[in-house]
Amino acid sequence: MDKIIIAIDGYSSCGKSTLAKGMASRLGYIYIDSGAMYRAVALFFLRHNIRLDNAEQVRQAMDDITINFNPDNRAILNGEDVENEIRQMEVSNHVSPVSALPVVRRALVRQQQAMGQRKGIVMDGRDIGTVVFPHAELKIFLTADPEKRVQRRFEELKAKGMDSSLEEVRHNLSQRDHIDSSREDSPLRQAADAIVIDNTHMNRDEQLEYALELAYLAGAVVE
Ligand code: C5P
Repeated sequence: MDKIIIAIDGYSSCGKSTLAKGMASRLGYIYIDSGAMYRAVALFFLRHNIRLDNAEQVRQAMDDITINFNPDNRAILNGEDVENEIRQMEVSNHVSPVSALPVVRRALVRQQQAMGQRKGIVMDGRDIGTVVFPHAELKIFLTADPEKRVQRRFEELKAKGMDSSLEEVRHNLSQRDHIDSSREDSPLRQAADAIVIDNTHMNRDEQLEYALELAYLAGAVVE
């Protein structure tokens, strides 16, 4: 009864997942990384050579795809744990054109809305506060200085043992930000009632405590 829906949107590598995961864990909520769902679709398309300009192939592929998450929040594509693979640069470079396709968005948004039916959910992405949950009790729009985001993503990939140059990461983020915010279907936008958090100069704990205050004000109750 006291559970709410929390929508977190923002550009690539703003720390959305870190914040969303932290909030979900403190509130006892479900956490859903909607970007992982688009990444899983992009991986399927790459593996099966699905052409984005072939509407029939794309439609058929969406019928063949089932995505869920295991209890550790790892993405499962048709029964296979693809969490590591979807974070590879090849998928990062392919995901934005895939997620711009309306037929892909329709299928995933439907599934995301079903996941939030009982509330008690924190979901992060690009269109969560505008399209997936326009009535979410709390909407956060996360931003950070672009160069800081490049640095963070570069360090994150390095820590995971994935080899990519700073220049490659910079190029990927700017490409994705451009496609994600200029596509026709559900472009990345700050919802009119979203609260903006610029975390350029905030550490993880400061950001989490601040966002939790907002959640309590929006009606969330700690279990
Ligand atoms: O969140 P993440 O950066 O992993 O998302 C990967 C890509 O998935 C984004 O660049 C964007 O193209 C797409 N995406 C989207 N809508 C969402 C979440 C992600 O279009 N709600």
